[in-house]
Amino acid sequence: MAIILLMFCCCNVQKVNKSSFKLVFMIKARVIGCGVIGLTVARLLSQKGWSVEVVYEDNYINTTSYIAAAVWHPFLVEKSTRILKWAEESYKYFECISNQLNTGVSIVKGHELSSYSISTPEWANIVKNFHVTTSNSWNSVWSYEAPVIEMPLYLSWLKLKCLKNNVVFKQQKINNLLKNSKEFDCIINSSGMGSKKLNIDNKLFPIRGQVCWIKKPNWLNDFYIFHLEDEVNGYIIPRKNDAVIGTTAQKDDLCKEPRKEDADYILDICKKVNPKIQNIEIESHHVGHRPARANICSSVVKRGDVILGNLYGHGGSGVTLSWGSALSFVEKLERLV
Ligand SMILES: Cc1cc2nc3c(=O)[nH]c(=O)nc-3n(C[C@H](O)[C@H](O)[C@H](O)COP(=O)(O)OP(=O)(O)OC[C@H]3O[C@@H](n4cnc5c(N)ncnc54)[C@H](O)[C@@H]3O)c2cc1C
Repeated sequence: MAIILLMFCCCNVQKVNKSSFKLVFMIKARVIGCGVIGLTVARLLSQKGWSVEVVYEDNYINTTSYIAAAVWHPFLVEKSTRILKWAEESYKYFECISNQLNTGVSIVKGHELSSYSISTPEWANIVKNFHVTTSNSWNSVWSYEAPVIEMPLYLSWLKLKCLKNNVVFKQQKINNLLKNSKEFDCIINSSGMGSKKLNIDNKLFPIRGQVCWIKKPNWLNDFYIFHLEDEVNGYIIPRKNDAVIGTTAQKDDLCKEPRKEDADYILDICKKVNPKIQNIEIESHHVGHRPARANICSSVVKRGDVILGNLYGHGGSGVTLSWGSALSFVEKLERLV
């Protein structure tokens, strides 16, 4: 009986080719980057049973993702049908996890105001309860519901999900994408601005953003996004225990330190939405560099025995597009494995 069973098993093993053999057993992937994109990809792959290692120069608390405002809102990113698709998938995902404990995600009523006339956004039919309203002080006004993602909480929750799926985390700066990659089937670069050097990408550029985290005023329940003139965009976003006000959008400005003139500018523009901002208490100042590109880089190619994937360049919408862009990227990856 044992001999017959052994012969049966051997036959089955011979029948499967190399790639399906890997699918049954374990595909090894290295994900570079511990921001929202790297963690989302790592979570998706580990859910599929892949063996995943995340390597990062900065842990999630020191990433651009950590300081993102972060409200669901396509901003400073390519305009295309794939963006709308990724934004919609992410909206649904965030809506779904907003009911779970400790995700840091809630669905909040928001108001978008513009001092000049702007057309209804292409994503109006994605969000819930979209209404165009009128106002004496603003030219275009609409309200809707959208996810507000409290990044310190969300990234911590995402990392925990990865750890539960046995993802291994390793702090290490990578200088060459494919060096020492032999033990992996896939190398995935989701290093945000790090891709400028790592993937030698001259099309990638930083858009510096400064924000202030403030003590949550008791009058603030809804979020506000506003456009005062071309390229003067701001927001006031309530979170559970504090609020975020911003922002600047300074192309190619690599300064990492918060600047007083930027904080003054943020207060100034936010006061135009609600003069009560004058009296708020600023708790801390934060700066990040949005990894911007005319088109988000989402590519998967074979390099010898290894598959090289790149997913970066989400600009001011990395959180908004995180789930949808990672889903589509993982599908591409699976087709090549
Ligand atoms: C002020 C501000 C407000 C924002 N608000 C919003 C918002 O409301 N909604 C929204 O959707 N988006 C928002 N964004 C944009 C969003 O933050 C980014 O699009 C997103 O964080 C990009 O994520 P990422 O994972 O690609 O990069 P990052 O978060 O920068 O992570 C990159 C990771 O790669 C690692 N890395 C880099 N180089 C190397 C290397 N050589 N070796 C190893 N590891 C490396 C880093 O250490 C890090 O762990 C905002 C951005 C800013 C600055």
